[in-house]
Order: sequence, then C-alpha cells, then structure tokens
Amino acid sequence: MGILDGRTILVAGVTMDTSIGFATARFAQEQGATVLISNFGRALGIPRRIAKRLPVEPVVLELDVTDPAHLEALPDAVREHADHLDGVVHSIAYGNPETLLGGKFMDGPWEDVQQALHVSAYSLKSLTSACRPLMTPGASVVGLTFDATVAWPAYDWMGVAKAALESTSRYLSRELGKDGVRVNLVAAGPLKTLAAKAIPGFEDLESMWQTRAPLGWDNKDAEPTARAVCALLSDLFPATTGEIVHVDGGFHATGA
Ligand code: NAP
Repeated sequence: MGILDGRTILVAGVTMDTSIGFATARFAQEQGATVLISNFGRALGIPRRIAKRLPVEPVVLELDVTDPAHLEALPDAVREHADHLDGVVHSIAYGNPETLLGGKFMDGPWEDVQQALHVSAYSLKSLTSACRPLMTPGASVVGLTFDATVAWPAYDWMGVAKAALESTSRYLSRELGKDGVRVNLVAAGPLKTLAAKAIPGFEDLESMWQTRAPLGWDNKDAEPTARAVCALLSDLFPATTGEIVHVDGGFHATGA
C-alpha cells in the first residue's frame, strides 16, 4: 500500500526528466496516486514526450501561471480527467538569468524582478486559488524553495523571489487552514535541472554542498526531494502547515 493510494495530484512544472516535478510525479505514482502534470506550454511537445517515461503516462495540461485565462480554465481542464484534487505541487520558478542572476543584483530591472516575483512567488497563490474549487478537506499544497533565510552568491533576485514564496506559503496556510487544507514547502539543496543550469555561477553554490552537507549531497538525484514532497502531500503530516522542510543533506544546519 502506498502513502498516496487513491489520491489525485496535480504537479505543475514538469519539463524534463531532470525536473523536480518529474521525480515527484514518478514517486507519487509509485505511491498509488493518479497524477496530472502541467507545463508552461511554450514547447509542450517536450513534456508530452517526457511524460511517457513515467510509470503511468499522465495527462499533460498547458498552464502559464501568469495567464489569467489559463488559471480560470484550469478547474474545467482538470475536471475532464478527475473530479477533485487531493494535492497540488507548485514546482515553478523563473528569473531572467541575463539580468537578474549570477551577480546582477544591483542592476536587475524592475520589469524583470516583477516577472520573477509573479512566476515564482505570487503564482503559489494564483495556482492554489485556481485549484481551490477542486480541493477536498485534507488536501495539501506543496511548493519548492531554495532556503531564502540567507543571501547566496549568484542566486540574487531569485533569492528575493523565494523569500516572497516562503512568506506567501505562510499566509496561504493561514487562509486555508480553516478548510483543512495544508500549505508547505520543501527547501531542496542544489539539483542539476534546467532552471538551475540557467543560473550563471550556480556551480559554485553546488560545490559548497560537497564539503558542508553532513549527509553528503547528490545534485543529480531529485528523489529525496520528491519523497519529502510526497510525504507532505500524504496524511503523514496531518497537523503540519506553513512549514519548510529542508531536504539538503543537512547543509542548512551547518555554519561553515
Ligand atoms: P525545471 O525543471 O526547470 O522546472 C521549473 C518549471 O517552471 C519548468 O517546468 C518551467 O517550464 C516552469 N515555468 C516557468 N515559467 C512558468 C510559467 N509562467 N508558468 C508555468 N510554469 C512555468 O527546474 P526545477 O529545478 O525542477 O524547478 C522546480 C522548482 O524547484 C522551482 O521552484 C525551483 O526554484 C525549485 N528549486 C530548485 C532547486 C534546484 O537546485 N534545481 C533547488 C531548490 C528549489 P518551462 O521549462 O517550459 O519554462
């Protein structure tokens, strides 16, 4: 018996098989869930091909979280395949690597910062609101952050967006707790995904994990992160909301 037996989960943000969303979709299926995935949609053919590599080929929905029409259409798009959602995974972020990341903090233009905040933080609220009519009591929303309690080299405005995401998650947990809906984040260590590879200088961050993470850290293995996301989606954490669970080999607990 799996921890997600009988549950229906939407995983938003699957592009490649390196995506944290892909590892989450795979582990969720292995744990008994029916999974729907969504992608931005600029090149929907790629996630549609990648989806075939999952144990069960999932429905792939197009969803740009900054497009009000997409968000409005989402409940009906889901209803074509499932009558409710027990869980929603927000595995989405974007910040222009040329203007906002890799040492560009002092020069990042507001238009690009605004876009990063919209796609990476505000969208946790937008996606959750869009899915709200489908959610049952006991439903769980889980997002992905990169520990925003400190300032990192290279991460720059994406770090600010993650701080906003973390706060958004706490406010959402206040709003939705009365309906029995939990909202939590997983703070993952650096993983070699498309999003991470686009950040100039991210490899310097990754190298710190090799010497400092007490448990060690494999930046090609998203499964530990996926497992934590699925645990938070399940009823193994029935009284936990507004929380950030670190899956970083213990890096966050070390000072040097
Ligand atoms: P990824 O595979 O590139 O996933 C990011 C996803 O965001 C992609 O599917 C991307 O779609 C999607 N996206 C971008 N703009 C969007 C929009 N407007 N609407 C809908 N979807 C949009 O990279 P990932 O590393 O797995 O990232 C997943 C999450 O984990 C992100 O929140 C990221 O910040 C977080 N995280 C990553 C790491 C790491 O080291 N990799 C560590 C901690 C946390 P397209 O590919 O089509 O643009």
